[in-house]
Amino acid sequence: MISTSLIQSTAEILMDKAAIEIPQDYLDGLTQAADAEDGDLSSFVLQAMLENYAVAKEDRRAMCGDTGTPRWYVKMGNETQIEGGPIALENALRLATANATVNVPLRPNRVHPLWRTDHNNNVGIGAPEIEYGFEPGGEWLDLTTVHKGGLFGTDYRMLFPSDGIEGIKRFYLDSLVAFGKRGLACQPAIIGIGLGGTKDSCMVLGKRAACLRIVGDRNPDPKIAALEDEFKELGNSIGMGAMGFVGKSMVIDCNIEVGYCHTGGMQMSVHAFCLSSRRAVARIYADGQVEYRTDPDWFTPYQRRESVTWETQESSAKSA
Ligand code: SF4
Repeated sequence: MISTSLIQSTAEILMDKAAIEIPQDYLDGLTQAADAEDGDLSSFVLQAMLENYAVAKEDRRAMCGDTGTPRWYVKMGNETQIEGGPIALENALRLATANATVNVPLRPNRVHPLWRTDHNNNVGIGAPEIEYGFEPGGEWLDLTTVHKGGLFGTDYRMLFPSDGIEGIKRFYLDSLVAFGKRGLACQPAIIGIGLGGTKDSCMVLGKRAACLRIVGDRNPDPKIAALEDEFKELGNSIGMGAMGFVGKSMVIDCNIEVGYCHTGGMQMSVHAFCLSSRRAVARIYADGQVEYRTDPDWFTPYQRRESVTWETQESSAKSA
């Protein structure tokens, strides 16, 4: 059984890591972009950001003054047991969020939408968001925190099936140009695209594609993987670079996730996980061991399953 005190202490460490340490995959992508960039201002921004990340880590200070909106992705194996159950788990994550806001510190960004009430701890109605996933085997708990910035770097459009890949490209490019020209999210970003589902699940899918997959990762469907490559190149060929300045480093990577949708439509969402692509992950085991990493490993074969029921690979192998 996993104790709630261990969940809370791990969650507080994760929030510190997320705010301060840029994930290595994003850093590698940014370094490659800096090497390739020849726009003056874009190059300047990229070099300044690389120095900023190093200084933030050395001084143990947040990499950006806007520390985003902290949220949690919780995944567990089918046999996982949590002391006190799901209510205790959520209490631990809310306590960790409040404590980390003071101790890291994080900017208390969360306010009531109408009265602008601020509890100064990033906790309130529906905040932080806690989303769940499950896996067929195991007694572990994966905690992923994402401190997403880029408040306006998100958009949605209902396309028709007849819009096809060309329509998807058009909306993708429209979104990137708007994000760059209007300063809606600091670039270069990891772009997540959600295709299909329903309007709400399409938004969730696109955000997860941006925040829960690492740079260089590819969708297991080879045709979607080819689109991801094409879209990365396309996004870097519109003449905009870092912070929307002239250049060719708008997109560090493009991740696409799909969900089955109504036959009459083709939902599409676009999300920018900004220049501060903050995520940190830990796996807590039943024996109290904790392993830290930066890859959420969210989109497993189980999360992308198409079948009515799920057979473990072992039982599939036996029946083959
Ligand atoms: S978009 Fe990202 S990098 Fe830019 S100010 Fe917001 S959190 Fe910071």
